[in-house]
Amino acid sequence: MKKSLSLSALGACAAAMMAATSPAVLAQGAPEVTLTRMADCGTTQAPTEVNVRFSDTWAFPGLKTTFTYSCYLIKHGDDYMMWDTGQPLAAPNVAPKTSLPAQLAQLNLKPENIKFVGISHYHGDHTGQVASFPGATLLIGKGDWDGIIAPKPAAGVNVALFTNWTTGGGKVEPVVGDKDVFGDGSVIMLNTPGHTPGHHSLLVKLAGMGPVVLSGDLAHFHENYESDGVPGFNDNRANTIASIDRVKKLTKTIKAKVILQHDSRDVNKLPEFPNAAK
Ligand SMILES: [Zn+2]
Repeated sequence: MKKSLSLSALGACAAAMMAATSPAVLAQGAPEVTLTRMADCGTTQAPTEVNVRFSDTWAFPGLKTTFTYSCYLIKHGDDYMMWDTGQPLAAPNVAPKTSLPAQLAQLNLKPENIKFVGISHYHGDHTGQVASFPGATLLIGKGDWDGIIAPKPAAGVNVALFTNWTTGGGKVEPVVGDKDVFGDGSVIMLNTPGHTPGHHSLLVKLAGMGPVVLSGDLAHFHENYESDGVPGFNDNRANTIASIDRVKKLTKTIKAKVILQHDSRDVNKLPEFPNAAK
């Protein structure tokens, strides 16, 4: 009797542990989650020499990489989230030809339908059209938010884009650590500092395709990601390497695909707009 009791207690304990340690498994009856790569978040640049600027060990002499700009729409049941907002429409050379609201209109959506705008980090090529979503709750790493509201803002931040949130016009949630966006484990902002102080990546668990990590600027191209390479302009070298290590190990554990947002070789990992990955 005593033995069977302790065995069933063990069983319950194991079940609880399974539930606690299997975040890759989605609860039954959870809202459907889809992921759409927006058609145009900035005009792809000509191949760029990456050796010195993007590698503080000058690891890639002669390597040229085609950088693309990416932002994404996540649908969670009836709720919508944008992940990054691309280049500004006024950007020289790299401006998107179609605004994000115009692209959303092709999906029969309006900016008011967007509940959350999640920002991987505060640089201009990820925040260019954030002001198009004044009604959305802004989710951004606290380290980056602090760089936006500082008396002397961090380099590369266009503070004016955030006026709606810095003046109390919109809701902002500075994210410390990870953030389970919808509260059911299906969409999680992952704390991956280093490129900037509050840099985050986004884990999206899709029922069909499986989990996907949109990695912001954790690494700009595959060669850096694979070799733990760090651009000289990153905020913190050690944090960058630790964050790459985290994402490599996490994605191995949960068998997730990694999408490097700037690497044009990763564009076709998701269906072409307006189609969504499911
Ligand atoms: Zn970037």
